[in-house]
Amino acid sequence: MRYSQLFSKTQKNVSQDSESINAKLLIQGGFVDQEMAGVYTWLPLGLRTLRKVEQIVREEMDALGAQEIFMPSLQPKEYWLATKRWEGVDILFKLKSQTDKEYALGCTHEEVVTPLAQKFAHSYKDLPFATYQINTKFRDELRAKSGVLRGREFRMKDMYSFHTTQESLTEFYNRALEAYVKAYKRCGLAVKVVQASGGIFTENASHEFQALTDAGEDVLIACEKCEFGQNSEVATLKVGEACPKCGGTLAQMKGVEVGNIFDLGTKYTDAFGFDFMNDKGEKQRVLMGCYGIGTSRLVGAIVEAHHDDKGIVWPTSVAPFHVSLVTLRSRDEAVQAQIDSTAKDLYEGLAAAGIEVLWDDRPDTSPGEKFANSDLIGLPLRLVLSERMLKEQSVEWKQRSTSEAQSVALADVLSRVKEYLRP
Ligand SMILES: [Zn+2]
Repeated sequence: MRYSQLFSKTQKNVSQDSESINAKLLIQGGFVDQEMAGVYTWLPLGLRTLRKVEQIVREEMDALGAQEIFMPSLQPKEYWLATKRWEGVDILFKLKSQTDKEYALGCTHEEVVTPLAQKFAHSYKDLPFATYQINTKFRDELRAKSGVLRGREFRMKDMYSFHTTQESLTEFYNRALEAYVKAYKRCGLAVKVVQASGGIFTENASHEFQALTDAGEDVLIACEKCEFGQNSEVATLKVGEACPKCGGTLAQMKGVEVGNIFDLGTKYTDAFGFDFMNDKGEKQRVLMGCYGIGTSRLVGAIVEAHHDDKGIVWPTSVAPFHVSLVTLRSRDEAVQAQIDSTAKDLYEGLAAAGIEVLWDDRPDTSPGEKFANSDLIGLPLRLVLSERMLKEQSVEWKQRSTSEAQSVALADVLSRVKEYLRP
């Protein structure tokens, strides 16, 4: 993509009250636009990253054998009355239609997926199965702060599993836990898995996933070696003690919550009377688990974990583009034409190889501004083409995560970039 064509450019002035690092950098970099507190538009750059995050999550859920669906956000009040959550969940958005009928705007989907599964699963032969969606969710937050980490409208992957036995549920729950850790790692996040209480969902087993970042709201006592962690408020272990899982040393860390999983037992299947026929021809209640990852929140957590004083430093797997191609202006028109045509060849050659390039081709922007812009947007690799580099038939190569630049022969750039991006 040519930067000159991108309608959503970087913003110089972001209001000082941008309350968090992720909001400030995502707004400044032209990734999102804040419509109102807790509600954001995902602009072209931000949407590319959000889609990459969601694709990683989708692949890991598919690998578990879960089947993707898409459920309505508009949900009948009766379902929420059935689970006693119409009054019980204070962050639930409630709507009244012109016919005075009331609806919930989904903050979660147990109320839709449980009766849905009930329509299809009647016998032990129909179970177990898991289904998930990636959808927009709504929460009536009193104070929406922390940028895209806590929105009133946000993106979420929610998965639900249905089982005949506790053994089957536990087996799937543990595999889902591993799949979550894998998805976070692929997004460039180090996470700790913390045993948690059930919140609005359940009193049964549940875990939360904490992405490590210095800006994290939650303080953890966590293992330096493995994923084990405890919330410091309820920790039974202390800093310096041995990890009960692997024997590693426990240390204090800060995290942002990026997902939860819950063993729901029969909480929701009780509410809807969801039974299956077992192999003896007897009715038995279905067991259920639910598994959530806030995907837009995950983008915020990635920014919190990967930035410096110049801007975002995207992990390659979720960067909106791989390469930031910057062309600098020459006063000599003939040289300028050569820079442009060389850059165009490079841009097209990289694109043909499946490499995603954002080319800052703006003719009247100063080098300093282009470099600052490129650092703010934070693509993994920057290639600069200038009059000096053209004379050497080279480009300047600089990774966003390091400070040193080097010169790479134009003839070698494509193979070097491919090599660099190979996972
Ligand atoms: Zn450990």
